[in-house]
Amino acid sequence: MRKAVFIYSLELEEYHYPAEHPFNTIRAKKVREILNSMELLSGAGRREGAPEPASRVVLKKFHSARYLHALQTASKGKWDAEAINMGIGTSDCPVFPGMYEYSVLAAGGTLVGAKLILSGDADVAFNPSGGYHHAGPERASGFCYINDAALACITLAEAGKRVLYLDVDVHHGDGVAYAFYDRADVMTISFHENPKALFPGTGFEDEIGSGRGEGYCVNVPLPIGTYDEMYMKAFESIALPLITAYNPDVFVFELGADALAGDPLAHLYLTNNVYAEIIEHLLSFDKPVLMTGGGGYNVDNTARAWALAWSILCGAGTDNSTVGGVMLENVEWQGGLRDRILVPSNQQRKAVIAAIDAVIEAVKANVFSLHGL
Ligand SMILES: [Zn+2]
Repeated sequence: MRKAVFIYSLELEEYHYPAEHPFNTIRAKKVREILNSMELLSGAGRREGAPEPASRVVLKKFHSARYLHALQTASKGKWDAEAINMGIGTSDCPVFPGMYEYSVLAAGGTLVGAKLILSGDADVAFNPSGGYHHAGPERASGFCYINDAALACITLAEAGKRVLYLDVDVHHGDGVAYAFYDRADVMTISFHENPKALFPGTGFEDEIGSGRGEGYCVNVPLPIGTYDEMYMKAFESIALPLITAYNPDVFVFELGADALAGDPLAHLYLTNNVYAEIIEHLLSFDKPVLMTGGGGYNVDNTARAWALAWSILCGAGTDNSTVGGVMLENVEWQGGLRDRILVPSNQQRKAVIAAIDAVIEAVKANVFSLHGL
């Protein structure tokens, strides 16, 4: 039986991005409600754990003191040109009441997960309030202020673990990728929409790390319209051999759900069945998995995807046919956590197959030989 910890606290509900901002913290509350109603947060090795605010000492392992000070001061309502130059108070990263307290608590949830894995008290953990992969050492970016994913990888690596960071958010996991760009003890693999079409504009297949980290940063840019079958082909052709060769001790898995079809900020065509399949693959390595949330701007689809992801991660399986649309507060939805299969058009199929086959070949050529593949 897997020891599975779902990380959440009602305190997180006290904070909100501004109403007009696409990042909706209610997704974590919603996924918890779904899982509660399915009795998937207790019994059979499952439990809930509370986040603790990340300490300044830990935060400084990735962020500069100057940045943390500016963030905390801005959160109290005072910010200046210096803060704005660090991305604080922009339309993407607005200042809102409790911004610092929220970010530090949400990030602390991911760090609690890392600690539980290190102590052996959890085999798998999920912080749906985490996954702020765009934040830089001295930069708020892409709705992210504190980079919990990078901090978790640092914590695990400091404990001597070989870390495999996998990022399936539709946006390039730039903050984490660049944090470990010259290191071989944290391999980062990011699947994301083509940076030519989407923020943050980085994550091309020739960005492979440098120095000792050469070959330990892997980017898989995907064409507009990418659908399940071809996404899984890319995953199985690239990620699986690299993970096997790298032989990690632990996974940090950023599960932004904005690659789902219909996400208002992106242009891929996935169903949540892809996430279920990827988690099954990760579990097959029999190593701990620390999973975080991330993007996902269709609130209902994201909450359902994360509920499905947890049900697989904690070992409850996928037979959730008793959950109906009413329970999910969605009259459009007939039942179950899984999305219906989506059928791509012939034109879409043709374009996506050609583009993804080319990306697979490029990544293989750039990275595989560095790992004896
Ligand atoms: Zn995203």
